[in-house]
Amino acid sequence: MTSSLSRTSRAAAMQAMQDEVLDLLVVGAGATGTGTALDAASRGLRVGLIDKGDIAGGTSSRSSQLVHGGLRYLQQGNVALVRESLRERELLLTTLAPHLVRPLPFMLPLHHRVWERAYIGAGLLAYDVLAGSGVLPRHRHLSKTKALAQFPDLSPDSLIGAIQYYDAQMDDARLAVAIARTAAEQGALVATHVALIGEESATSDGVHRVTLRDELTGESFTVSARCIALCVGVWAPEASAIFTGAADAVAVTRSKGVHLRLPRTAINGETALIIPTGKSVLFVIPTPTHWLVGTTDTEWLGDPDAVEPTADDVDYLLGLLCGVLAHPVTTADVTYTFAGLRPLVRDQAVGGNTAKVTREHRIARVAPGVLAIVGGKWTTYRVMARDLVDTVLTESGLSRRECITQTIPLVDTRDAEVAALVADDPQLALPLVHAPGYTHADVVQAVVHEGAFALDDVVDRRLRLQLMLDVVDDETLRDVAATMSGVPA
Ligand SMILES: Cc1cc2nc3c(=O)[nH]c(=O)nc-3n(C[C@H](O)[C@H](O)[C@H](O)COP(=O)(O)OP(=O)(O)OC[C@H]3O[C@@H](n4cnc5c(N)ncnc54)[C@H](O)[C@@H]3O)c2cc1C
Repeated sequence: MTSSLSRTSRAAAMQAMQDEVLDLLVVGAGATGTGTALDAASRGLRVGLIDKGDIAGGTSSRSSQLVHGGLRYLQQGNVALVRESLRERELLLTTLAPHLVRPLPFMLPLHHRVWERAYIGAGLLAYDVLAGSGVLPRHRHLSKTKALAQFPDLSPDSLIGAIQYYDAQMDDARLAVAIARTAAEQGALVATHVALIGEESATSDGVHRVTLRDELTGESFTVSARCIALCVGVWAPEASAIFTGAADAVAVTRSKGVHLRLPRTAINGETALIIPTGKSVLFVIPTPTHWLVGTTDTEWLGDPDAVEPTADDVDYLLGLLCGVLAHPVTTADVTYTFAGLRPLVRDQAVGGNTAKVTREHRIARVAPGVLAIVGGKWTTYRVMARDLVDTVLTESGLSRRECITQTIPLVDTRDAEVAALVADDPQLALPLVHAPGYTHADVVQAVVHEGAFALDDVVDRRLRLQLMLDVVDDETLRDVAATMSGVPA
């Protein structure tokens, strides 16, 4: 089975979904939905995967891009979640996606002598122990001199020393595409820009008939499936209401997280920073060209499709950053901002204090044969998918097969596909206007192999130009659009 996602494969997937009765229709192609489609397809189920937008068009392309155990969760006493996340980190680094997940050194500055070094050091020792005999180096203590050598722009007054430890970094949107392509390779029918909009008839024969809409043409069609998995993140109340008529079938708290991007030249440092803030933590994360600084953690009560960073969010993050740097950074240094919504399990006990809400996942039975999953983290997408497919098998009575996704490396063909396109047409090696380092072949590869249909799909989530370039100007956008429309249908 090919892993390529193209206009042809999308049309074929939509047709097959109408012609057959699926075992499982997965709604939502973020980390959770792509993972669920891969898990189910690799266990032999006939699976359809749809998203109203692009792969990772929701929260899954707006994360801090960390594959991490979560030191903060250890402090909250959630040892099981940390152990599970560290196990997944190891698996992604070594087996599933070494081409997309990379080690990242962190430094945690210390402010108090003796007790803080002992307390945080004990926490990091536990972090290392929970990680087992993994591939990443263990934590080590740094003197103030050594810490400042690694991060010269830290204010000497803001630390008495530091501790270094390792986690991992990925490109979230690209990882989701790799999972979706691997799902297609395992036989999943993948059709993005297709929304679930209604239920045609409640199940009487163990089969759901739902109405989907092709968002590229506006046409609706019917799909039949024995089970439906709502992997729709913060849209869980709206999607579950399709089956129950009430928006409170799945309780989700939407927690807004904002990131700032600054040029690498704005801050002199060689390592990521983690700064405890009292409420949560601040990450200062290096990429080859920029720093990502984040994140906020505040309850969002508005439209989940309309989340945006505000001036207050930017000021809050800059204030925290300036508190540890030797020189000020201002809004003039900020070249890009973005916001995402965490789909957290609602916890009445902590109310609007979203930083305290558990990052564990929960599966809810919305209606017979309709399951929804919320909570969790990017890092644990595979575990979430496994638990959800286990529940689907119990719910549907389909024959039970064990999860095997821990043994399936994610698709890794991008460079070879770009090279093949250039070999066919050397003109495709030309760079995009005002985007040196990106070629027309990159755009064509996104369209013919990676399921990109709209301009944003290519610009934001395949090439990640918004994240990587200081400015994405109109000429670049026109060049990308013209290249996309030149790809034969
Ligand atoms: C600021 C921030 C930082 C984070 N940082 C990290 C981190 O560093 N590491 C980590 O492990 N986790 C991190 N997370 C958490 C992680 O990003 C999320 O847990 C994860 O991405 C959620 O994925 P999902 O697939 O459940 O949801 P989403 O990615 O939102 O996917 C849901 C999909 O459902 C689709 N959909 C909705 N309704 C419909 C419908 N009716 N029909 C069809 N499709 C529909 C949407 O279009 C969307 O694509 C972070 C989260 C945030 C917000």
